[in-house]
Amino acid sequence: MAEESPSTQSYTYHCLCSTLILTTTHEVQSLPHRQEPVQDAALILPPPVEVTRSETIEAQTTQSFSSILLNVATERRPIIIRRDDGFEKRTLLRCTRCKIVIGYSLDDIHWENSERELRPVYLLPGGLLSTAEMVEGKQPGTPAWADQK
Ligand SMILES: [Zn+2]
Repeated sequence: MAEESPSTQSYTYHCLCSTLILTTTHEVQSLPHRQEPVQDAALILPPPVEVTRSETIEAQTTQSFSSILLNVATERRPIIIRRDDGFEKRTLLRCTRCKIVIGYSLDDIHWENSERELRPVYLLPGGLLSTAEMVEGKQPGTPAWADQK
């Protein structure tokens, strides 16, 4: 168990509506959380991250991407979130089926010159189910942030 190779293992995660959202070499439970002063404790999905609406993932998983977001729509206009130490600009990512917000990327000045797929994506905690959890029929409570439109 200690010597598992992370490069060969991949994990799949679903929206609360069961739509496949994420295929990744990272185990979501083990991802780092955002720290204070950010209040949402979002999980940090390290780059490179590809966002695609395609449902065919076989070809893409052989490429160098470590994480692929599927069936996710990127909001066209970013929103501004107030933080204790200032503001941050977020582009929300929504499930294309149920429109729930599953995460966001940042349009901060640090990322201004990077390609979007080379930026980390922040996943809202409690918003995704692993395939195993879904098969078990686990029904998580809807997180508070999911009520936001
Ligand atoms: Zn959904």
